[in-house]
Amino acid sequence: MAKPVVILDPGHGGYDPGAVAFGLEEKTLNLKLALAVADDLPGVKVLLTRDRDLFVSLADRVALSRRARPDLFLSLHANAGGGRGFESFISSSLPAGHRAFIKQKALHGEVMRALKPFEIIDRGLKRAAFYVLRHNPHPAVLIESLFIDNEREAGLWRDKNFTGSLAKGVVSGIYSALGIRVEEDQSREIDSGLNGQKNLYTVQVGAFSYIENARQRLSEAREAGFSDAYIYHKQL
Ligand SMILES: [Zn+2]
Repeated sequence: MAKPVVILDPGHGGYDPGAVAFGLEEKTLNLKLALAVADDLPGVKVLLTRDRDLFVSLADRVALSRRARPDLFLSLHANAGGGRGFESFISSSLPAGHRAFIKQKALHGEVMRALKPFEIIDRGLKRAAFYVLRHNPHPAVLIESLFIDNEREAGLWRDKNFTGSLAKGVVSGIYSALGIRVEEDQSREIDSGLNGQKNLYTVQVGAFSYIENARQRLSEAREAGFSDAYIYHKQL
C-alpha cells in the first residue's frame, strides 16, 4: 500500500523572517516545528517545502504540492499583531463540507487537545484567501500557533515542554486528518527492533452505545473518503 503523502510547509525563511518579537523570529519557530513533526511520522511520506533557513516563494510551495499531490498540505505559522491563541485556516473559496474542512477539523481538534495544559485560547476554525491555500489543488490547511508578540505566548515558544506538546499535537492531528492506521510494516524499524513490540495506531472518531449511531458515523467517515474506517465492538 502506498504511503500517504504529507507536505509540511514551514512559513517564511531566508530574508523573510515572518513575525519578529521578543527576540524570536517566526521563520525559525516554523522550521523547528516542521522538522520535529517530520521526524515523528512513521508510515507517512513527508516532504518539506524547505528544510533550512531559505527563502521559498509561495508559488514554489504550491508548485511542490502540484507535483507531489499530497493527501495533506500543512502550512505552519506563528501569529502576531496583537492577540492570543491558536487558529487554523482553509481556503475561503472552498465549498462547504469540502474534505479540506474535515482535515482542518481533525488537525485543529488534536492540536487544541495537546495544548490543553497550557490554557491556550481557541480562536477557531477559519477560512482565508492565503496564497498557499487558495492556489493549492490538494487539501491544504494553515495553522497559526500563538502570537509571538504576546509576552506569555512568546515565553511558551521558548519552553521545550510547550513546543514538544505542540509538535505531538500536530503529529496526532496529521494522523487523524489522514484517517490512517499505522501498521507495523510502515513503522520505523526502531519501533519493532528495540523492544520487540509492535505498534498499532488507531484513530477513533466516535464511541456509541447504539449500533445505529456507530453505523451512521461509519458511513459519514466513508463518505468523507476514509475507506478503511470500521466499527470496533467492545462489550462493557
Ligand atoms: Zn507567518
